Amino acid sequence: VSAAPNTFAGATLDRAAQHRTDERWVAERLADPAARAVVVGEEGPWVREQEGEIMPALTPVAATDGVVFLGLDDAGPLFAAPEPAPPDARAISLREAGARLRTPDAGLVAYAAGILNWHRSHPHCSRCGTKTRIAEAGFLRVCPSCGAEHHPRTDPVVIMLVADGDRVLLGRGPTWGERNYSALAGFVEPGESLEEAVARELREEAGVEIAVATYSSSQPWPFPSSLMLGFHASYAGGEPHVRDRELEDVRWFTRDEVAAAFRGEEGPLHIPPPIAIARRLIEEWLDER
Ligand SMILES: [Zn+2]
Repeated sequence: VSAAPNTFAGATLDRAAQHRTDERWVAERLADPAARAVVVGEEGPWVREQEGEIMPALTPVAATDGVVFLGLDDAGPLFAAPEPAPPDARAISLREAGARLRTPDAGLVAYAAGILNWHRSHPHCSRCGTKTRIAEAGFLRVCPSCGAEHHPRTDPVVIMLVADGDRVLLGRGPTWGERNYSALAGFVEPGESLEEAVARELREEAGVEIAVATYSSSQPWPFPSSLMLGFHASYAGGEPHVRDRELEDVRWFTRDEVAAAFRGEEGPLHIPPPIAIARRLIEEWLDER
């Protein structure tokens, strides 16, 4: 079990999921004067700034259309809404929200953004094409034509740091910039376990075989609906080389090079930003000794 939640995890509200199917209960929460909405538009979450600190711009729940019940906090019911823009607020990118909001608030906007992203991109039944309607307080879309039920999706992505003693394997995507290396990652495919996905991705992207993959921690990544699953893997063989277009370079970095990058020294490596689970994996490896 990890000590601290990764960025975009750590929301502290009670999701009260057992009440989602109770339409009357949900309607009562909507009518509650203490009900508030987290507003996340297409450009990102709306925030207010106070003395240099930003926080989600919570508003009274205005419309019921497209509103999703998120749960309960100490102040009352919380909903997610795609609009309207709250007064005295501005929209920021989810990435900036992840970097600047307090952990529980970043978790809250990731939750709201994730579920609203899903509604925005799944208006129709994937089986027959009919426009679906929202049910279960926003956690289900039902097709009125064929009866199919569609659940919010989360796409699992494995991200893994391969270590071999005092060196660690990092890759760089074509658009990332010269020295921006990170842990390798890829989507889990149907009929595949997480450990199989870890081994396959490393073989496909870097030509590397591993012995053991050990789970570390996970991170919601609402761009638009991923769940990053972090692993440490031990190297077993293969000379790292780029095998497909997903990476422009993949290579070993020494412990000294990685430690220097963490100290902010100029060198061959810029480590991933604090909001990325890759940074945590690298830190865990560095701290091992
Ligand atoms: Zn249908």
